[in-house]
Amino acid sequence: MSISLEGGCACGQIRYECTAEPIFTAHCHCRDCQQASGGAMATVSGVPSAAFRVTKGAPKSFRYAGSSGKGLDRNFCPNCGSRLFTNNAGALPDVTFINVGSLDNPSQVTPSMHIFMASAQSWDKPADGLPQFPGMPG
Ligand SMILES: [Zn+2]
Ligand SMILES: [Zn+2]
Repeated sequence: MSISLEGGCACGQIRYECTAEPIFTAHCHCRDCQQASGGAMATVSGVPSAAFRVTKGAPKSFRYAGSSGKGLDRNFCPNCGSRLFTNNAGALPDVTFINVGSLDNPSQVTPSMHIFMASAQSWDKPADGLPQFPGMPG
């Protein structure tokens, strides 16, 4: 099934599109999502990197080490700071993680799990009944 996901940052300088169905959509409670979002978690859709492209502007990227010890590039708008997607993951190089809130229509995707619950804050207790994994599920 083909799908078209489009999104971008809050100021409109960066736009992207994805032409493949997400492989998964998850609420991620890792420390990087906490620090980058300023909240308890971030919701991300993993999509095939080959189906994803930036269509307008040039995001700025920040490389950080994930829990695997391998690096990832967190991409954001250099003008408005909106977090957009993470890619070039050492552990999952063929997957781009779109920050769902940056989609034009975030309701196009549906989260099915919580990941990196091992780093969730003690007051962060999801009660939606979705499966919870301590890290990235195999
Ligand atoms: Zn922007
Ligand atoms: Zn995360």
